[in-house]
Amino acid sequence: MRAVEGLDVVSCRVPGKINLDLSVGPLREDGFHEVSTVYHAVGIYDQVTVQPANGWSVHVTGPYAAGVPTDDTNLALVAAKTLARRRPRGGPMVPLRIDIDKQIPVAGGMAGGSADAAACLIACREVWGMDHVENDLLEQIGAGLGSDIPFLMHGGTAIGSGRGERITPVLARGELHWVLWAGEGLGLSTPQVYAECDRLRAERAAKVPTPAPSEELMTALRRMDADAVAQHLKNDLQEAAISLQPLLSEVLAAGLELGARGGLVSGSGPTVAFLVASQAEAIDLSVGLAANGPTGDILRATGPVPGAQVVQNRVPPPSPPPPTVKAPRSGPIGRVPS
Ligand code: ATP
Repeated sequence: MRAVEGLDVVSCRVPGKINLDLSVGPLREDGFHEVSTVYHAVGIYDQVTVQPANGWSVHVTGPYAAGVPTDDTNLALVAAKTLARRRPRGGPMVPLRIDIDKQIPVAGGMAGGSADAAACLIACREVWGMDHVENDLLEQIGAGLGSDIPFLMHGGTAIGSGRGERITPVLARGELHWVLWAGEGLGLSTPQVYAECDRLRAERAAKVPTPAPSEELMTALRRMDADAVAQHLKNDLQEAAISLQPLLSEVLAAGLELGARGGLVSGSGPTVAFLVASQAEAIDLSVGLAANGPTGDILRATGPVPGAQVVQNRVPPPSPPPPTVKAPRSGPIGRVPS
């Protein structure tokens, strides 16, 4: 579809997340589980570009494009239309073309759909000039669409409470090196994994405590000590994810055997995240897993990284100014250092 002339094109880059700790509490009356999680944004990025057009559309490219819907269920499109309803009364509603470069594995427990929604909210606010929508309100709109969205706007490492949407940053300097295993075509649906977790708990009549962040993990993160962090990685959904997808226990065993300091299923899976102590170890482990581990995509990333950020805001070049008038500034703004 032809872009409408004379308006901006805004691109926003957004990372995926893994959960260093995911403690799942009891099922609440609203159908969600109370959780306490430690989110960690890792350097695998989707890029969402929006530009005014004559009608709404979504176009997806990149290695994981095949698993992403381009109809009204696409979470970036849902987010854009939700924000559009917040425009000032009587304000024009310019539809958008949304392009997604999909680098985050789909249905992998890395919150890629939520990431695209977070990036799209930020890009749409800019392209529509909705300066009255402050960050807090944008996060609130995001939280209504998905529990992980506020974190993906923040990035870094943060505790998520409630259903994960209430964010408290964790002060942690330094970086951690990760090797991620993403099983092709193995997507697990998040509600299915929570349901399996409930089933397994009911089977053994397990008492479910109120979830809380682990103090030991917080201490390890403050020191950014990979071995100490590795010891305290924890995911209450891991058993359920393995029960639905037994291959995951083979993946975990292979990574640990090949020298990972620690490993866990990310969120509801099936992506498996392995922690190593250096870039050299990450290269060794990724080569080893690719050669000897179960078939899957192997990705390397560091964390923590910042959340969704505008990387390009292209204002079309102004028409040549009359000689006596100073030309307005043009060119990219809000660019993040690469
Ligand atoms: P969760 O956030 O529930 O942990 P996930 O990380 O496991 O989810 P996602 O990559 O967010 O998985 O995809 C979940 C489902 O959302 C996919 O099966 C896909 O059909 C749908 N979806 C909708 N929009 C998007 C999008 N922009 N990117 C990826 N998936 C999307």
